[in-house]
Amino acid sequence: MHCLSPITPIIHPLFTKKKLNVLIKRDDLIHPIISGNKWRKLQENIVIAKTQGYKGILSFGGAYSNHVHALAFACYQENINCIGIIRGESHYENNATLTQARKWKMDLKFITRQEYRERNDSAFIAQLQARYPDYYIVPEGGSNKAALVGVGNVIQELDEQCEFDTLIVAVGSGGTLAGIVNADENRHALYGVPVLKNAEYLYDSIKQLLPDQALTYNNWQLLLNYHGGGYGKFSEQDANTLIDFIKKTKIPLEPIYSGKMILALLDLVKKDHFKPGEKIVLVHTGGLQGLQGLSEQNRIHLPDWNIS
Ligand SMILES: *Cc1c(COP(=O)(O)O)cnc(C)c1O
Repeated sequence: MHCLSPITPIIHPLFTKKKLNVLIKRDDLIHPIISGNKWRKLQENIVIAKTQGYKGILSFGGAYSNHVHALAFACYQENINCIGIIRGESHYENNATLTQARKWKMDLKFITRQEYRERNDSAFIAQLQARYPDYYIVPEGGSNKAALVGVGNVIQELDEQCEFDTLIVAVGSGGTLAGIVNADENRHALYGVPVLKNAEYLYDSIKQLLPDQALTYNNWQLLLNYHGGGYGKFSEQDANTLIDFIKKTKIPLEPIYSGKMILALLDLVKKDHFKPGEKIVLVHTGGLQGLQGLSEQNRIHLPDWNIS
């Protein structure tokens, strides 16, 4: 199998001290522009859009969404029409994420935050489908059953790249973890780190995506206490911990997804959750384009997050 991304060891004094073997699957390197896991999730969806007679793809996201950004690029590259239903006011079209999406010809439609809450309701979807007939509607985050195919390749690739005991990945809508759980077939300990508060509902979202035979797998769990205050939130201390980690390891991170996975790992390692000699694989899902938006909003000092 052709591996889309490399796997590399992480050298960090804490891991050395605790005798842990930590590696990172660099899906952030899959593509220079778009988020790795979003790329994998879109693969099968692009095939469906192209082969089942659709006029284009319609999907949803926030104004800084990695999914919207990735979808815009993927459709541009494949010459597929695409509509992005964006949460919030139209002035966001000038932020870094949406400026690029527009450059890639995504047609942006802004809706209020209140309307956006209905994004998964069947009545709202039916209304959109009536308005945009022949468009293939992909849910927020690109997390549908078709997405599992591409994400499952993370496991197929790891089977060739290394042996491991444990895998950790950041979780937003759950599609990425669902694809990993499905492909892993109950072999390794799998941890998802939700980046949102009160994320217990993700157990149901993930089960809804899984095929029946995967519902019996009991090797995965969500670590619900590492959301750092909620989606997009992070403390100055968390930011400093991540900046220190970036300096030590030369692994680029952002504080919305991959950063929360790292903070969870560091905490668990400090608490001796893992056994000496354990081999842990982190999945770097990408998302680095988000740093630009955080910098625009003066929430980070961009040079601190550069690897150098
Ligand atoms: C979307 C995203 C995730 C979460 O993936 P889900 O499939 O929505 O759970 C993790 N990391 C990055 C960088 C993302 O953009």
